[in-house]
Amino acid sequence: MESALTARDRVGVQDFVLLENHTSEAAFMENLRKRFKENLIYTYIGSVLVSVNPYKDLEIYTKQHMERYRGVNFYEVSPHIYAVSDNAYRSMRTERRDQCILISGESGAGKTEASKKILQYYAVTCPASDQVQTVKDRLLQSNPVLEAFGNAKTLRNDNSSRFGKYMDIQFDFRGAPVGGHILNYLLEKSRVVHQSHGERNFHIFYQLIEGGDEDLLRRLGLERNTQQYQYLVKGNCSKVSSINDRSEWKVVSKALTVIGFSEEEVEELLNIIASVLHLGNLQFGTEDSGYAYITTDTQIKYLARLVDVEGAALKEALTHKKIIAKGEELMSPLNLEQAASARDALAKAIYGRTFSWLVNKINHSLAFKDEQFPSSKNTSVIGLLDIYGFEVFQQNSFEQFCINYCNEKLQQLFIELTLKSEQDEYESEGITWEPVQYFNNKIICDLVEEKFKGIISILDEECLRPGDASDITFLEKLESTLGGHAHFVTHKLADGKTRKVMGREEFRLLHYAGEVNYNVNGKKDGRDRSSGEEDVTCQSENKILSQCFDKEELSDKKRPETTATQFKTSLAKLMEILMSKEPSYVRSHVCLSPALVLIRHQVKYLGLMENLRVRRAGFAYRRRYEVFLQRYKSLCPGTWPNWQGRLPDGVSTLVKYLGYKPEEYKLGRTKIFIRFPKTLFATEDALEVRK
Ligand code: ADP
Ligand code: MG
Repeated sequence: MESALTARDRVGVQDFVLLENHTSEAAFMENLRKRFKENLIYTYIGSVLVSVNPYKDLEIYTKQHMERYRGVNFYEVSPHIYAVSDNAYRSMRTERRDQCILISGESGAGKTEASKKILQYYAVTCPASDQVQTVKDRLLQSNPVLEAFGNAKTLRNDNSSRFGKYMDIQFDFRGAPVGGHILNYLLEKSRVVHQSHGERNFHIFYQLIEGGDEDLLRRLGLERNTQQYQYLVKGNCSKVSSINDRSEWKVVSKALTVIGFSEEEVEELLNIIASVLHLGNLQFGTEDSGYAYITTDTQIKYLARLVDVEGAALKEALTHKKIIAKGEELMSPLNLEQAASARDALAKAIYGRTFSWLVNKINHSLAFKDEQFPSSKNTSVIGLLDIYGFEVFQQNSFEQFCINYCNEKLQQLFIELTLKSEQDEYESEGITWEPVQYFNNKIICDLVEEKFKGIISILDEECLRPGDASDITFLEKLESTLGGHAHFVTHKLADGKTRKVMGREEFRLLHYAGEVNYNVNGKKDGRDRSSGEEDVTCQSENKILSQCFDKEELSDKKRPETTATQFKTSLAKLMEILMSKEPSYVRSHVCLSPALVLIRHQVKYLGLMENLRVRRAGFAYRRRYEVFLQRYKSLCPGTWPNWQGRLPDGVSTLVKYLGYKPEEYKLGRTKIFIRFPKTLFATEDALEVRK
């Protein structure tokens, strides 16, 4: 049999806190690599699960695996997403405390797959009745629907989520799932009208065209050819080998039924999807006057029918904008370029709002229903957060700004809570806590979100200021307000080397994870509400659209909230939700075996070394007395075969016999704390030798 020593050599340690040299990034990487080579994609840092995407099906998600992790102590089995799921579930049940599982990582790292695995674990292992089964089915089926409308093929992931998602699963007192709720964040609406080379629009468009039956397509005025649609050809990549749109269509149609969409609702939903495609094919010509007119009357006909609006009103709305002059509303004609962008804005608005409607509808279906579960007054919750990781591209725009700001907030939460839970444990075990120095990224969060002088405040001001406000005045305002801030640089403020690599229309933020240059082009468009065009959708008789576009809201003359401020508010709410729960963490990594470099920057983005430092500040290893004694009692005649006295005395007898020096360990109220991994390894090796 292989000794513990050589096994450790081959597969590394299953908890990074047991690394001899815990501050060395090289050692960290080496451990990750060793394990990955052996198909061990999971490793812990204390209770944090670190994972690497294997990009192949490993036989580790079977029902037998689920059973293996059910009700078993975290440390007794090898690291696994099921261990995290089970641990959160048991804490929820025994401590009656709401839980949350935060999954982070880059695009393609396996976040969404992880969240699905957690959901499946609960669906399989939690108790069930007929009513509970319905809830389980709906929870599981919400995924294919949201993915059809919110996921797309990108260069990095064939099934990339283009929105952030937080999902609550609600459990009754027996631990059965009885309801759920989803919050969605910042759908990437720009994808509806434009895709980069090699990328696609949202899956649903292709699914509908490839999978919808003849009759349906005829009703929608669609041809079974994705190449016909301007909004689908920009990326030049309508077919993807890993995706079968036709069979996915079946899955999604079925899922819609399971969730409880009526036939009529499905039809109205598809009317909207089709109308977005028709909008994309709408073309304009220029009159002698220089103004735009619509040259494609067929599209108008289809649109008018699908969204149930008068054709003439539609035409007017797409070629004019409403302006208010001297207190009077006037329709002012648009030129060709303006009309095209009004058309795109309408398509994005319709799609974005329909997506929110969809989430809402799913929430109604998942909502915990008192009358169905009369005995479950008190429910507990496990929340799953699957949200985009830190992003840096060649060109970074408003979307990256929001995403990275979000990650800054999550990192802050992560470090604060890990630190706090360490401190709490030391205190409850009666062991002296020595403060740890760590990088607090609050300064960067403030830079973005502070009232009056944060970047978002300044953006708001520029967005809503009438007159000469532009991208450049926005940048100048940033410079005059934030110049001198340690984490903010622009071309003008920079010196020498930095200046060379910065554009004149960029500002740079020094994030905890690294530097990112953001382009201010179009930032001002964060206003997100186009003027006259949306009136049309108010007149729509399509039930979904008339619910999406609330007349009162649109005619509200108050200053509308900017996208940035909406996002900030929803993030603040999310932080509140997460703070009120006990967190577990999954940090996922993209794997590219030949390019470990790529993994290295992720280790930085995910703040793993910082986390490890906090975790190792005092003691590398801690274990409950009974667990420790059970494992090692055979090494000492005084504790073998059974220790009869108090547990701490037994452990004390054991470790003294093993020759632990006083500075190497501490005895808390319920646990032994061991300072260095080598002490523990010596004990492990002794156990192996005896075998
Ligand atoms: P993210 O949500 O982080 O962008 P996904 O969860 O969509 O990434 O994962 C991208 C792809 O990687 C999946 O479509 C799947 O092919 C593969 N993948 C992710 N996690 C696993 C896993 N645990 N086992 C096998 N393949 C995986
Ligand atoms: Mg995803």
